[in-house]
Amino acid sequence: MYLVIVLIVMIVSGTFILLRLQSSEINKGRSELEQYAQKLEDQVVLSYDEMNFQAVLNDFYYGDSLGTSLQASILDSVGNTIATTTALTTSEYTYKNAVVISALAGNEAFNEALTEKTAEGYTKSLMGYAMPVMVNSEVKYVIYTCMDATAMNENISRTRQTIFISAVLAMLLTIVMGYIFSKTITEPILLLSKKAKDVAEGNFRQRIPVYSGDEIGKLSASFNYMASELNKNIGEISSEKNKMEIILDNMTDGVIAFNADGDPILSNMEALEMLGKDRMNLNFNNFVKEYHIPSKTILSLNQNYSAQDIFVVGDRFINAHFSVYHNENNGVEGIVAVLRDITEQKKLDDMRKEFVANVSHELRTPLTTVKSYTETLLDGAVDDKEVAVDFLNIIDSEADRMSFLVKDLLQLSRFDNKQIELKYRDVNVMDFISQCIKQNKIHADNKNQNLYCLPCDDDLTIKADRDRINQVLNNLITNAVKYSQEGATIKVFVTEDKDFVDIHVQDNGIGIKKEDLDRIFERFYRVDKTRSRAMGGTGLGLAIAKEIMNFHKGELLAQSVYGQGTTMTMRFSKNADFSMEE
Ligand code: ATP
Ligand code: MG
Repeated sequence: MYLVIVLIVMIVSGTFILLRLQSSEINKGRSELEQYAQKLEDQVVLSYDEMNFQAVLNDFYYGDSLGTSLQASILDSVGNTIATTTALTTSEYTYKNAVVISALAGNEAFNEALTEKTAEGYTKSLMGYAMPVMVNSEVKYVIYTCMDATAMNENISRTRQTIFISAVLAMLLTIVMGYIFSKTITEPILLLSKKAKDVAEGNFRQRIPVYSGDEIGKLSASFNYMASELNKNIGEISSEKNKMEIILDNMTDGVIAFNADGDPILSNMEALEMLGKDRMNLNFNNFVKEYHIPSKTILSLNQNYSAQDIFVVGDRFINAHFSVYHNENNGVEGIVAVLRDITEQKKLDDMRKEFVANVSHELRTPLTTVKSYTETLLDGAVDDKEVAVDFLNIIDSEADRMSFLVKDLLQLSRFDNKQIELKYRDVNVMDFISQCIKQNKIHADNKNQNLYCLPCDDDLTIKADRDRINQVLNNLITNAVKYSQEGATIKVFVTEDKDFVDIHVQDNGIGIKKEDLDRIFERFYRVDKTRSRAMGGTGLGLAIAKEIMNFHKGELLAQSVYGQGTTMTMRFSKNADFSMEE
């Protein structure tokens, strides 16, 4: 732009100067020629006779101070030379150039661009002026003056050269200045635009050096301020976002948010885990379809802005609470679903229901028996002493059964409420096992079973509440006796390693199927209900035993091969610390 402007200015002003110079040179020449011709008219043509023109002209010319380049001729009315200051060649005797022709017609004329051949054959440029001398309104003579224009032309061309050189110099200067300008203006702007792009790409740490206090400097400072503010704001926003993400991801509830179009806009890890997904790819409609959310729920969501439903994912139960959220103008912005895994809760609920059913069932059977026998007695059986005693015995045993059941239940409930205090003492293992075997020997003998224990280290002791672990071992041996056929072998033995002392009760009885093995520790669980009940069992024995072993920070383990036998293991940890409990 600078170059073009300078070029235009130079061309316009150069041309103007040249034209002015040229026209002033021409005017100067013309006035000289006019004055000269006027002088010739006054002092030669009108003062002398035609015969003397040449002689006077010669003198006149030489005595003139106007300059050697001025030439003059006096011509007659047809253009033939009468007198002249130049050395004539024959061909120049008669002048036929434009100014002379015009003067012959009676009009003075001037021309700045005449050409004439010199005696040496060169063409030279001339300025010529011709003036008619009128006598009786007719052209009598023509005074023709001319001047060599070479000097003037040279002068003009020198000026043109000077203008050209100065134009070139100006251009060079412009280039240098332009370069410096572009360095100080364009470069910071380019840098600014580059940094702005970087900022747009998220690199907010961009800073531009501020070198000056001008507009560019101010712009740079504003840019730096903008970048730092952006950095601060984005930092705040992202830390808020992080906080929210951390909170969401550490929630035990799942959260999924849908926008007004139903597209998922947010979901936390818990939600994805509950739904068994890597990422949330369902919109609200598909979500409703996939998890069979009933339309009733969605209708209530439309009316009350919140709704709740339970759906199943695999073997898990998920409680979903939907609520509609609004924007600041109270327009519906989307739906948030809060998911909670209620599988455990549901399991507990089911267990509680089952437990109540079991207890009532267990109590009802003996109660019915007692009731029917009492009624029979009242109906007259009481008179038959033998029958009456028989019946009363049955009633007594059923009452016992109920009291055992209630006792067991009470004990379990105390374990549940941690109301039981155990007294941990050193218990000699061999002594403890022998005593328990002695208690049960009679039952085994009744079934011709061989109940015995293998000897172990006499000094081996464990820290335990003797009465409680006696209850556990008792139950294990009773079970082995109960659930093994006549003549079976029941062996109690101890193994020990650096961490544990294990007391095993091994029988070669009926065994337990694999699917039942995990459940025998559940309350009221019996593999064969009728058989167990017939033997006076309630199915609480192992549940209580497990609780007791848990209190001892130990374990109760079961291994069994169906049809071949069962091994139950009481595992005591040698490193268990009971100091807190006592
Ligand atoms: P309770 O002990 O309360 O009098 P129970 O013996 O029936 O009644 P648990 O001791 O809890 O109840 O045993 C649960 C069930 O496990 C039993 O009903 C029985 O079916 C099975 N079971 C336990 N021990 C054995 C065993 N050694 N062999 C085969 N089955 C067993
Ligand atoms: Mg039992």
